[in-house]
Amino acid sequence: MRQRSRKNMLRVMAAGQEPFSLYLHIPYCVRKCPYCDFNVQVVRKIPEPEYTQALARELKLHAQSDFWRGRSLLSIFFGGGTPSVFTPGSIGGILETIVSFFRFEPDIEISLEANPDREDSKHFPGYRSRGVNRLSLGAQSFQPHLLQFLGRLHTAEDTRDALRAIRRAGFENFSLDLIYGSPGQSLADLRSDLQEALNFTPPHVSAYNLTIEEKTVFHRLYREGKIVPLSEEEEIAMAGLVEAELAGAGLERYEISNYARPGRDSKHNVNYWQGGDYLGVGAGAHSYKRLSDVGGQRWHNEKHPRRYMERIAAQGSAVTEEEKTDLRQSAAEFMFLGLRMTRGVLVAEFSRRFGKNPGQFYPQISAWLEEGLIEEKGDRLRLTRRGLMVANSIFVEFV
Ligand code: SF4
Repeated sequence: MRQRSRKNMLRVMAAGQEPFSLYLHIPYCVRKCPYCDFNVQVVRKIPEPEYTQALARELKLHAQSDFWRGRSLLSIFFGGGTPSVFTPGSIGGILETIVSFFRFEPDIEISLEANPDREDSKHFPGYRSRGVNRLSLGAQSFQPHLLQFLGRLHTAEDTRDALRAIRRAGFENFSLDLIYGSPGQSLADLRSDLQEALNFTPPHVSAYNLTIEEKTVFHRLYREGKIVPLSEEEEIAMAGLVEAELAGAGLERYEISNYARPGRDSKHNVNYWQGGDYLGVGAGAHSYKRLSDVGGQRWHNEKHPRRYMERIAAQGSAVTEEEKTDLRQSAAEFMFLGLRMTRGVLVAEFSRRFGKNPGQFYPQISAWLEEGLIEEKGDRLRLTRRGLMVANSIFVEFV
């Protein structure tokens, strides 16, 4: 009962009043993985104090703005890059800065992405004691030949050690990233990866189908014919195995690539998929604020870490591009972000905000219903299992 009245209260809050999410981008990695298209930099010496200072300065600027001032946070996410290359002292310092500007919701989720590196694992107790309450570990695989293919620096034993270190440090909440669909991977390899992961009873698993992104080493190798992706049938079989094995262990699929035990969905990502406000600080970080039911504003920072720091030092802000979203864009985002989640989108909420129901707005929905790619379930519209397999080709139809 208490929960329902709180929910109703949030629904009637004006735009700009609800708790929001904060993302902090740490762009440094020890080596660039050949499949990665994130905003990452490999440098001889990571300018940790300077970059930490820039984040604090940028945070201060936003905290003074009318839109963000005095609001409360539902999640904080240190992403990258590899945030675990930063010491607990730096991460703790950033958290102290954040707490001096914003209120924290009582059940705030504070996540940090970590690599299973022996040096990074030594930081885990320090992160925990300074307030981080969720780690997201980039395991990717436990098979030596797949780790080598993916260009990872860690071994399977490093990952096992890191998972034990996470437990020892007192993290009840953590996630593990796996990549499947690498050329040369068999179903037996994948089953073994899932089993290894499940041995550590993770509350959350992200299982990503390997995609070959432009401007990556893998893309060049693919163009040269040196990488041959798996067939569609093989990928479908792997996706089915991931879902079945994880469901069998109590991890429910709640998004295309994300699985969680009850109550362990990533609050940070769910807020993003639900179109909530998020503030991103750091090199290349993206932000979004909803200004009304039918429009918002998004912007992003200078991508290059050095130029980001210079711009912050000179003017406090490093925003390079911003745009206002209109009714059409907002409706599209409502659909393609909401449909990422297995529970789908609320039809009545779409109609209330955009003046028509989804089927009237997007005539192609009736064809997808007939093809079994989308289904109506109670008051929601959601992708079927088949629809989730081809989600990207559906999402582009909204824009
Ligand atoms: S560690 Fe992660 S962020 Fe860094 S290069 Fe590899 S995949 Fe990209």
